[in-house]
Amino acid sequence: MAFQSIINLSYLIGAIAFVWGLRLLSSPDSARRGNLLAAFGMGLAIVATMIMPLAGADNNYAWIAGGMIVGGGAGYISARRIKMTAMPQMVSVFNGLGGACAVVLAMAELNHFYQGEITMDTGSLVIALLALLIGGVAFTGSMLAFAKLEGLVSDRFLLLPKHNIINNIMLLGLFAGAVWLTIQGSEAGILLAVGVMLLSLVYGVSFVVPIGGADMPVVISLLNSFSGLSAASAGLIYNNNIMIVGGILVGASGTILTVLMCEAMNRSLLNVLIGGFGGGASGSSSRGAAGEQVAKEVSYSDAAIQLFYSRAVMFVPGYGLAVAQAQKVCKEVDDILEANGVQVSYAIHPVAGRMPGHMNVLLAEADVPYPKLLDLEDANSALKDTDVVIIVGANDVVNPAALDDPGSPIYGMPVLNVWDAKSVIVLKRSMSPGYAGIQNQLFFHERTKMLFGDAKDSLQKLVAELKKM
Ligand code: NDP
Repeated sequence: MAFQSIINLSYLIGAIAFVWGLRLLSSPDSARRGNLLAAFGMGLAIVATMIMPLAGADNNYAWIAGGMIVGGGAGYISARRIKMTAMPQMVSVFNGLGGACAVVLAMAELNHFYQGEITMDTGSLVIALLALLIGGVAFTGSMLAFAKLEGLVSDRFLLLPKHNIINNIMLLGLFAGAVWLTIQGSEAGILLAVGVMLLSLVYGVSFVVPIGGADMPVVISLLNSFSGLSAASAGLIYNNNIMIVGGILVGASGTILTVLMCEAMNRSLLNVLIGGFGGGASGSSSRGAAGEQVAKEVSYSDAAIQLFYSRAVMFVPGYGLAVAQAQKVCKEVDDILEANGVQVSYAIHPVAGRMPGHMNVLLAEADVPYPKLLDLEDANSALKDTDVVIIVGANDVVNPAALDDPGSPIYGMPVLNVWDAKSVIVLKRSMSPGYAGIQNQLFFHERTKMLFGDAKDSLQKLVAELKKM
């Protein structure tokens, strides 16, 4: 009894640490503390769970220790080695592994049930099936999202004609299988449960196949919420409160993020999921190919002069900032300009980079003060009064096709209207398209000048020029 009270108290403290940790994660200033606090909560929950055998539950220390050494070791090594640019891929893999855990737990429990070793009422059976289905979709869907983000497969990998119809048929099959398993109870047998599990794994892949290009942030946050919901269902199977709380927190925050990402893309979730393919180089843009037009270039010295004599300068960071790791030298340019009385701000598009909050994390690492970061709406209102916009490796988030080309796959997505500023300087290495694979007419705009090269290298050269003034 005393052990059970200690476990319950530890779970309660763990749950409070999760919630408070999440709260602290909402600001870059306190995010590190939030992460540590949530990790402490998880550590406490693990220790409390480890003392369960003493409280009478049936556990096996050797298996637990083995799992912790393999899982914890792999997590530690990958977190140490991961490059900042590959963080979204790692998040996808971790989402997927959360789903895989739920599948394994649900299958183990269903196996006991079909072998007649335990009894399950209808509610428990439904919960186990939910963990199986959602976990399966989260697992393989996240693995495909990882492969797409890593560039291991093309965005159109495995895309079949009438793909959405096939997906809907599979979804119906999953639903029918789950209902049948529930109605049949212990009569159904393990084979049908394995069949439903396999179908959920196939559906996970097939569900992510048609989503690509600029719609990827939505599917990544949706898979994140699936992994949380499957963990919460697995927690319900074992009646483990901390798993339920942790799963619900991940599920709820993933769902909120999905809604925010849909808002950022100006698309409904249904539209993203059944609206077909959202990207690809052959997007039906009605605009001319890049080769037919000529983009103007600017020299480092001219760009530096323009910046030096501006009143207001706005940086627009994108995925290229992460690739070049240019955040610190970006701040150096900012410091020189501010010292010269130039007002400097940063426009943050919600889907810039490859994961939600990607730009905020990078700029926080470079100690850019949070109040300098403007969200999409505030940045768009400030652009008319901006002398120079410096685009640092952003592309899709500043593509005017989103506003004026109904044939474009990103049509309808709110973008940063950088062409409203008096002058635009684009830092990128070539005329290559961004993630959505479509050309960008901004690069041929009358007020735009290109500064080709790696963003960090270009910014270092600008620093050198600015220091000469
Ligand atoms: P984009 O992917 O549209 O463009 C990035 C640009 O950076 C490229 O055009 C590339 O051009 C340039 N670049 C790459 N490396 C460097 C470098 N070393 N130096 C300078 N430039 C470089 O990025 P955005 O941030 O504008 O848009 C994000 C896109 O990713 C959106 O389509 C979004 O939907 C999608 N996405 C976002 C996710 C999220 O959660 N935020 C998740 C998944 C996808 P070049 O090669 O010529 O240098």
